[in-house]
Amino acid sequence: MPFSYERAKRELLEEQAKLRQQLERIENAEYESVGYGNHMADDATGAFDQAVDQALLRKVENTLREVERALAKFEDGTYGLCESCGTRIERARLEVLPYARYCLDCQTRQERNSTRMAAR
Ligand SMILES: [Zn+2]
Repeated sequence: MPFSYERAKRELLEEQAKLRQQLERIENAEYESVGYGNHMADDATGAFDQAVDQALLRKVENTLREVERALAKFEDGTYGLCESCGTRIERARLEVLPYARYCLDCQTRQERNSTRMAAR
């Protein structure tokens, strides 16, 4: 099936549902580890390690934010446009990363900047 915004939207919605589920699972696992749990966790939640939870939780939350941001752009009619320079983001790029915010040029520039910032 060829790439289309329609398909990107569907994928984003699926991703959103998946991420929300994941988030819920992590949060439940956290309650368990804090001691409020009554050992009713199923195997899936029990498998989470607390140290990993924090990193995973942040990652899931960030991705969910990106996904929701991308979905909001369908409403604005700005989906697929680079947030920095306004150019149309390459379709091949959106296919791999439906919630891409920047075109490849701008993304590369941003990454270079954040690498510099992270190196402080
Ligand atoms: Zn750009």
